[in-house]
Amino acid sequence: MTTHRGFWLKEALAAEGGLAPAAPLQGDSRADICIVGGGFTGLWTAIHLKTLRPSLDIVLIERDICGGGASGRNGGFAMTWASKLSTIVKICGAQEGLRLLRASQDAVRTIGVFCRDNGIDAHYRPDGWLWTAADKSQDDAWADIVEIHEKLGSDAFQALTPEEVQRRAASKGHISGIFEPAVATVQPARLARGLRKAALARGVIIHENTPMTGLDKGSPPRVHTANGSVTAGKIVLSIGTWAAEMTEFRRTMVPVSADMVVTAPMPERLREIGLTTGVAISDSSMLVSYYRTTLDGRIVFGKGGGKFGFAGQVGTKFDGPSQRPGDVETMFRRWYPALSEIPIAETWRGPVERTSTGLPFFGRLSDNIVYGHGYTGNGVGPCYLGGRILASLALGLDDEWGATPLAKGPQGHFPPEPFRYVGAYMVRGAIKRKEAKEAAGGKAGPIDSYLAGLAPAGLTPLKKK
Ligand SMILES: Cc1cc2nc3c(=O)[nH]c(=O)nc-3n(C[C@H](O)[C@H](O)[C@H](O)COP(=O)(O)OP(=O)(O)OC[C@H]3O[C@@H](n4cnc5c(N)ncnc54)[C@H](O)[C@@H]3O)c2cc1C
Repeated sequence: MTTHRGFWLKEALAAEGGLAPAAPLQGDSRADICIVGGGFTGLWTAIHLKTLRPSLDIVLIERDICGGGASGRNGGFAMTWASKLSTIVKICGAQEGLRLLRASQDAVRTIGVFCRDNGIDAHYRPDGWLWTAADKSQDDAWADIVEIHEKLGSDAFQALTPEEVQRRAASKGHISGIFEPAVATVQPARLARGLRKAALARGVIIHENTPMTGLDKGSPPRVHTANGSVTAGKIVLSIGTWAAEMTEFRRTMVPVSADMVVTAPMPERLREIGLTTGVAISDSSMLVSYYRTTLDGRIVFGKGGGKFGFAGQVGTKFDGPSQRPGDVETMFRRWYPALSEIPIAETWRGPVERTSTGLPFFGRLSDNIVYGHGYTGNGVGPCYLGGRILASLALGLDDEWGATPLAKGPQGHFPPEPFRYVGAYMVRGAIKRKEAKEAAGGKAGPIDSYLAGLAPAGLTPLKKK
């Protein structure tokens, strides 16, 4: 369990008024369904299951507190799968790809409606996403994606003039961009804690500070903890990046840290420069830089692609303050020179699990154990769908969620260790050098360009040259 809480989670816990964690599991118990992991995926799964079958006995165990993992530490961009459409179509075909795109757009809207209807003040702001270029090399990074949207009749993105991009971002640092209106921003830890409250209100039993220490795949399956066990009809594994520690998933995901910084409050200054909406803004680099404002007038800035976990190890390696706050802060300073006097108030980091496709995958470990993870830094919106897919898998429903190709297990594997670890750092080093050269108006050498091209898709696809 982490003792360092990031900015969002501290704020959300304070807003709850110091609620005590749910009691850890003591003794042996039984349930219809046991969910392991209390992030967005596990909590949405519990809520979907209770909506589909209100009488189910559901027990959820969480190693830390609900929202203590990536769900309470992220940038709060509730995105759709619009930037992933070409990969989704490759995996699922055009018809299912379009269905999943629309479902991901609905998911973002539904999160807002769910918050309103359940009294969850998650600072939901449906102000869209500016997908921008920060230098010439990133210009038009979205061209292939926009083309496939047009081909399939989707109007997810809107073209903007460079002036309009700069006006909306209140920064000349973005030289061009497009806009996706269906995206929202949230205070992620407030959303996670709100989902916890909604799950409890529906009768879900939650045990916090209760790590799963063993998994018995027999029939019925059983989850072991330090002081007890849960024997259940079905088990749902929704443990996010920590799944990479299981031998079954070790080669399907690479754990990597993502880092965030938050400025001191500056509502007046944001009003002066004209950045007052909740718009989500990112550049098109592989080690993506992204940011948004908060309701109390700060900017939260993030950067992907930090440290890797060797052989899938996560543990507490990704907990604590950012280990490269300067790298994250650099882009904030570059894009907002007018705010140079504003200090960084806090930093933190968290685990992201990258898959070879950039998309999550769902499936079965056995007849009675299902799993879902691999969001690759885009889970705030999609976890709603992940929870729906897991609910169908757990109930054995042969509906569009149980049958989606995303629920047919991993779509690719990474090389074994130590090649993966060494390779990951080589590729990341090449990306860093390439992007630094390009940001300065130069051109990367052929080796760095080749190595950078080996990186799997991140938040947005790699620009083809
Ligand atoms: C710094 C950062 C920035 C990000 N920014 C964005 C963003 O802006 N937009 C976006 O869409 N996505 C973003 N992401 C990704 C997003 O946060 C995740 O995709 C999403 O939260 C995944 O939710 P989850 O429930 O699958 O995983 P988690 O929220 O990690 O939940 C898994 C839970 O399982 C628990 N667990 C692990 N092992 C065990 C065990 N053995 N027993 C019991 N419990 C266990 C963990 O403690 C954790 O609470 C970001 C992630 C990070 C770290």
